[in-house]
Amino acid sequence: MLKFWKSDREKFEEEMSKAFDARNKGKIDDAIEHFMKAYEIAAKSKEENLRGIVNVPLSYALVYKALSTGRPSDIEEARKAVSSLPPDSELDLALPKKVKAGELAEDFKYLALLYSTPEINLSKLSNYSPGDASKLEEVGKVFVSAGSRKFVIEDLVKIHDTFESIGYKLLAFSKMITAKQLEEEDPDKAVEVYSEALGYLGLAANVDEFVKRVNDRINKLSKATRCWICGRPIQGEEVHFLYLDTFTTKYILKKYSGEDELMMREGKVAVCAVCYGTIYMLSDKISKRYYERAMEEMRRLEERLMAQISALRAEIEMLRVSVSSIRVGYRRSGPDI
Ligand SMILES: [Zn+2]
Repeated sequence: MLKFWKSDREKFEEEMSKAFDARNKGKIDDAIEHFMKAYEIAAKSKEENLRGIVNVPLSYALVYKALSTGRPSDIEEARKAVSSLPPDSELDLALPKKVKAGELAEDFKYLALLYSTPEINLSKLSNYSPGDASKLEEVGKVFVSAGSRKFVIEDLVKIHDTFESIGYKLLAFSKMITAKQLEEEDPDKAVEVYSEALGYLGLAANVDEFVKRVNDRINKLSKATRCWICGRPIQGEEVHFLYLDTFTTKYILKKYSGEDELMMREGKVAVCAVCYGTIYMLSDKISKRYYERAMEEMRRLEERLMAQISALRAEIEMLRVSVSSIRVGYRRSGPDI
């Protein structure tokens, strides 16, 4: 028999199963929409039982929204919704095991913390502020104290490391930011702070790139030599001195490379930042002057050419006039045909 009337419970169940269906097909936006419809049905219903579970569809909707946007505000909304469910109630998130609401609320608490930190980008180390370093340190400590725990929804958030490991990575990155800022001012101190970062990295997983980077900085900053040009002692390759290309004859190499093994190698000499800066700025000035001079010459040449062109034009015009007058004269005096 065809049924014309549906109870709120039936409409609710229908939306929920449509939502799960869409979720299973990977259509997350559709799933969120159906979860929200189920939520509205339950919220407006006169059935007390249904109103009692209104936060279930809402939690599903907000959890999937948070997972798809990754926005801190969405993560916080999801955390609030999930926290309002009885901790032992289970949610079906298409994972091998059902997830308890209490565990999920914990996951979202840590996710919210993690997303409150600046995004880690190894190639932009100098763009971070001291505030970023302290935020990373603060969150890093919280994660470290959570120990070997992992995200229950690790497959959904695609973070498989333990909280401890995540925490040490954050602490290491915080140190790397501080060390980077010290490079300019005190290379020895920077090396010290990079070494602390290395200590934290030793306790974190999947940080090969970080270790490589930190070792490279320690290696370069520890290098001390003398400037070939001014002879002053100088420490910290790439920051306080660098190598410039030059000619090194066999005689010069033999005579001076023994003085300081980092000062000279074949075709290169160490030059302090000040000497380098002087050469750089001076050559910049010289090339600008030559450029301006060349441009001035071009302008003069152009003027000369334009003057010649207009003289030639005037001459052509005169010739045209005289040629046509000769033609007219020839026709008048030519033989009659
Ligand atoms: Zn110098």
